[in-house]
Amino acid sequence: MPPDATSVRDARRIVVKIGSALLVDRATGRLRSAWLNSIADDVKALVAEGREVILVSSGAIALGRHVLRLPKGALALEQSQAAAAVGQISLSSAYQEVFQARGLTAAQVLLTLGDTEERRRYLNARRTMDTLIACGAVPVVNENDTVATAEIRYGDNDRLSARVATMMSADCLVLLSDIDGLYTAPPAKDPTAKRLDVVRELTPEILAMAGDAGTELSKGGMVTKLEAARIALGAGTDMVITEGAAQHPLRRLGEGAPCTWFLATSDPVAARKRWIAGNLEPRGIIVVDAGAERALGQGKSLLPAGVVRVEGAFDRGDAVTIRALDGRDLGRGLIAYPNDEATAIMGKKSGAIATILGHAGRAELIHRDDMALNRTERT
Ligand code: GLU
Repeated sequence: MPPDATSVRDARRIVVKIGSALLVDRATGRLRSAWLNSIADDVKALVAEGREVILVSSGAIALGRHVLRLPKGALALEQSQAAAAVGQISLSSAYQEVFQARGLTAAQVLLTLGDTEERRRYLNARRTMDTLIACGAVPVVNENDTVATAEIRYGDNDRLSARVATMMSADCLVLLSDIDGLYTAPPAKDPTAKRLDVVRELTPEILAMAGDAGTELSKGGMVTKLEAARIALGAGTDMVITEGAAQHPLRRLGEGAPCTWFLATSDPVAARKRWIAGNLEPRGIIVVDAGAERALGQGKSLLPAGVVRVEGAFDRGDAVTIRALDGRDLGRGLIAYPNDEATAIMGKKSGAIATILGHAGRAELIHRDDMALNRTERT
């Protein structure tokens, strides 16, 4: 492993993508249960070290098509969706079983493109998964294949896992693959092809190294893996591709197994704050009192109690400007309430939110993770 690569051992929050070909035996359509147990051991070891692990696991369609006795070869969309409905149950219960045996709790999270595609829309999924992790559960994510139609579908878990990694501000995305990294040319066709240790930039030369899409079982080829790298690097998440078919792939990666690292130049928190600060058009203004301004300066979230005025028409998840009483812009944030609800709860204690709105909501108007403050001089 290159000395400057963020190893999986340095990462606090890790997303691991598990492809169908690793999990499901191609000939029998059955789960490779010895392998699944070995990855559960690896996850347990990472969790025991205090790391937060999120799995993005394929396998629903591969498992379900066998049960439904669907023909070999490419499936029609509705056949894949039917297969996923059957296979996802087996997949989740398999994870539940191997995790439970090790004192871990598996949590099934099924996402569609819309839940992750636009950063401002994914506050909900992010918060839910944060809560699961805080409670000690291991989210096991897949695409909600059965309801996602062709237009709103990822179709491959390489890109889905990259979206999950960036949504969760993960430090590292591990793609367990049937190949141990990115080669200068597809190695099956070109025996002189060499594996790259580190990629720092997705240049046209690098992009040209990807061959065609994958096998019948796994949707992603190198093309979608490089697309995943683009998503991850843009959000400050490092990505690594390594061969996953043998047992204990995560342990082996930590021990220096062959792989290709894609190294981000920024870290996820900084990248997210930059995005909030620079890339979104603020839809409203939240004017806060001096106490709230002080609290924000100490790294706290913005509570409704500290708000004195709400301006503009915005929805939950939109960007808003945070302003001091004297008109100074303090920063920007993604707001957890639409403008009418924000107006109704401003100046009120968070405990009163449920009574005022008639439904429970977040205690914070803007969570500190969803906020980018300006570095203003304070007197
Ligand atoms: N979501 C699909 C499944 O669970 C897999 C997509 C992929 O292979 O990347 O079967």
